Amino acid sequence: MSDPRDKGCLCQGCGRRYRVDLRLSDELWKRIQYPDWPNLLCGICIMERIEDFREFDYYDLDHGSAKDAASGLL
Ligand SMILES: [Zn+2]
Repeated sequence: MSDPRDKGCLCQGCGRRYRVDLRLSDELWKRIQYPDWPNLLCGICIMERIEDFREFDYYDLDHGSAKDAASGLL
């Protein structure tokens, strides 16, 4: 039987496995991604990189999940 903790993606920033993927604008992604290689980042690494901007900002995460969008709830 598969362990649900084995599912998800490996973060290429910290190496942790994560199961919640965040969709970012292209503009924000360009600011936080590693410059030399395509990468997958967990929510913790994404937020740490945003915190590194050293500015107060606001991001709206309240658009539901991709599963909600696929089922027509959004
Ligand atoms: Zn990470």
